[in-house]
Amino acid sequence: MKNLLREEKNGRTALLTRNLVPGKRVYNEDLLLRDGVEYRTWDPFRSKLAAAIIKGLPEGTIGVGSRVLYLGASTGTTASHVSDLVGPSGMVIGVEFAPRVAREFVENVARVRGNVVPFVADARDPSKYSVTEVDVVYCDIAQPDQTEIAIANCRRLLKKGGTLILVVKARSIDVLKDPGVVFAEERKKLEGAGFKVRSVIELSPFEKDHALVYSTI
Ligand code: SAM
Repeated sequence: MKNLLREEKNGRTALLTRNLVPGKRVYNEDLLLRDGVEYRTWDPFRSKLAAAIIKGLPEGTIGVGSRVLYLGASTGTTASHVSDLVGPSGMVIGVEFAPRVAREFVENVARVRGNVVPFVADARDPSKYSVTEVDVVYCDIAQPDQTEIAIANCRRLLKKGGTLILVVKARSIDVLKDPGVVFAEERKKLEGAGFKVRSVIELSPFEKDHALVYSTI
């Protein structure tokens, strides 16, 4: 069975991820059986990665067995689905600096899921997490200098040929600029740092003024 299922219902796409820990919910998602295997519903209105997959991010971008450095894990809503996607042979290294949400991430996600390693740390200083090379860096920290932070993490920890997935919240970078201009500027920064930008996926109607930049190095 696949770790990601896509189902069409009433003209809408629904995503499901295979539950790494059957019987356990992470938030209030539904648990559903498909051919005797348990899946969790993955709501694109609650997860920018789910929205991006529905809007065209190739499904295998985060695949079975991938090692993923996840910056901005928050309480772990999306990180838990990434943990489902990579499965028992993969690894999710989750970095979060806000103590309250980091505690929830550690208790509800990392303690329960054997493939999740939490770091309560500032993503501005990747030397603080003892991690070996990863296949994917996923960055969703909503900071004005997030692209520079993502690049610094990739320089230190992303393997050659690896993938950077950068969530851009236009209003966190410049509230006055047109979001399309902000997306183009962040794209340029990545290209200037040697990344090949494969696509820039705007996340409306799921998230306003957000885009996900999919790139490789
Ligand atoms: N990715 C999450 C999800 O989809 O479930 C939502 C992430 S939320 C938009 C951004 C998170 O990044 C917040 O929890 C915030 O505390 C964290 N964050 C912001 N700057 C950070 C930094 N420099 N280092 C680590 N975490 C940071």
